[in-house]
Amino acid sequence: MTWAPGDVVVHHEVWLDRVWAARPLVVVEDTPDRLLFWLPAGTVRKVPMTPPHREDPGDRTARIIDLLERGDWVHVEQVWDVSCLWILRPGDWHAVWASWLPTGERYGWYVNLQRPFRRTAIGIESMDLALDVVATPDRVWWWKDADEFDQLVDRGVFDAATGERVRAEAADVIRRLEGNEPPFGEDWDSWRPDPAWATPRLPAGWDDLPA
Ligand SMILES: [Mg+2]
Repeated sequence: MTWAPGDVVVHHEVWLDRVWAARPLVVVEDTPDRLLFWLPAGTVRKVPMTPPHREDPGDRTARIIDLLERGDWVHVEQVWDVSCLWILRPGDWHAVWASWLPTGERYGWYVNLQRPFRRTAIGIESMDLALDVVATPDRVWWWKDADEFDQLVDRGVFDAATGERVRAEAADVIRRLEGNEPPFGEDWDSWRPDPAWATPRLPAGWDDLPA
């Protein structure tokens, strides 16, 4: 099954057999080599939050670790703030996001370390693995959430093999980023979303585990 440009699909993140997070994405390209999705600023997504009967740890990192460890969360809505093009290749333990400012200028790169995606009946499933690499359009990069990732591995929430796999993947992506290899060296400055694409919305049933 392939999707057509403009189709709206759901990206599910799943942890301990429950939906961790969900967001709608607009299909840009669907080929055997890669998937491209558009996630415009203003898109409403569902993110995990501390249930009301527990005290919230207060800061985001402590909350994420607590929720992943306990396997118990509720969902709240959050509005996405930076328009991104997602670039995913089958088997990769990361996604590359190219981002734009509201003016249409390139904002930068975001490499999201995550489990390889699998196709579902209504989109794709993967799981965020905390660690990120952020870079300017001209590829000056820095780590994001490295401390959160280290804590998750140290506490065994992410097992040691996953920790090693993610660190190796990050090192490889940084090498490709520094070498301006695809997708980094492609011409994204002139890429624009189809103006006919509306802000995508999650369908009813987004909180069911994807088939
Ligand atoms: Mg992160």
